[in-house]
Amino acid sequence: MSALPPNSTIGIVGGGQLGRMSALAAARLGYRCHILTPEADSPAAQVSAGVTLGDYEDPDMLRAFAACVDVVTFEFENISAEGLDLLASLRPVRPSPNVLRLSQDRVAEKSFLNAAGVPTAPWRCVNSPAELEAAVAELGLPAVLKTTRLGYDGKGQAMLRSPGDLGPAFAALAPKPLVLEGFVDFGCEISVVVARGVGGDISAFDVVENRHRDHILDITLAPARIGEALALAARDMAVQVAAALDLVGLLAVEMFVTADGRVLVNEVAPRPHNSGHWTIDACPESQFDLHIRAVAGLPLPPATRHSDAVMKNLVGEAETAMWTDILATPGLIGHLYGKAEARTGRKMGHVTRLFPRGALPGAFGVAAALGKLADPDSAA
Ligand code: AMP
Repeated sequence: MSALPPNSTIGIVGGGQLGRMSALAAARLGYRCHILTPEADSPAAQVSAGVTLGDYEDPDMLRAFAACVDVVTFEFENISAEGLDLLASLRPVRPSPNVLRLSQDRVAEKSFLNAAGVPTAPWRCVNSPAELEAAVAELGLPAVLKTTRLGYDGKGQAMLRSPGDLGPAFAALAPKPLVLEGFVDFGCEISVVVARGVGGDISAFDVVENRHRDHILDITLAPARIGEALALAARDMAVQVAAALDLVGLLAVEMFVTADGRVLVNEVAPRPHNSGHWTIDACPESQFDLHIRAVAGLPLPPATRHSDAVMKNLVGEAETAMWTDILATPGLIGHLYGKAEARTGRKMGHVTRLFPRGALPGAFGVAAALGKLADPDSAA
């Protein structure tokens, strides 16, 4: 397809902050966005030209939504691939429903990655307590037991430390089957956001380092403080995955750097990613710009970075309450998502602090740069 003409409408399935920031980027490129969400007054719909309020699984809603848009993308993964198939029969859907299918299912995802030569933690699919015991005998303890579907932000997983943990963890996690993963003794967690266009052109952002708190991303450091060879290997791996998926759109690849210096892919998400929010302020074109460009069939610029950056999520009530302080602090760039209620664990916004290229500070400098927002417990 040729490029989507200006003033066309991009349909986004999902009404969260990723849709909101994609819609803002789309507006800059002369497009309108139309959101499909069950949520009244969603972050994405607040900044979009239109909204279809309805259930993602309702075929009538999906048809009504498709009738309002020229091309479809999605900003979260918990829609049914069948629903996306229906949309794909009516409009181009980017990334394709098959890419979504892979990312929704850890077994399909890991099988695909390993078949493409991309290393992951050792894993086994387990359907019964007996299979779990056999898998633990092979992979050893500690290990991590995860649901195959519908897991995010550490939900749907359990750490297995001793044989007594197996039974309760297997019983507690649903739906089945589950995936047992060998525990990765990682030095750090990193990610790469990569965009791939309609013609197969690829732009990959620099590798970043991610720190979690309570299983939720807390801080991203750009670039990751790892050696050049490792960074190159991680970027190449993300590009390889995007190409193997025949992706059109954006893909985030989350990885572990092991204590002995290897890169393993943890999981992939075919959409803008929280660990790419720093690109709004530190890059001429952000992950959201590249997302929209890829979906609209526009040329992709190189994913260059003019600054180093620290991104800190604003999660829950206490951090959100610091908003006025944040805005009063020179150098902190605030982003708020328009959510009415700051519930515990809810991502309400984020803050970015830029540094000249090559000047990303160490632990004390990052804490100092974040001021009151720095977590006293985290070794940044
Ligand atoms: P996930 O839901 O797969 O993204 O996992 C959430 C977090 O749990 C990751 O970001 C890691 O911090 C941790 N984790 C997941 N899998 C493993 C593993 N196999 N070994 C060690 N830590 C893990």
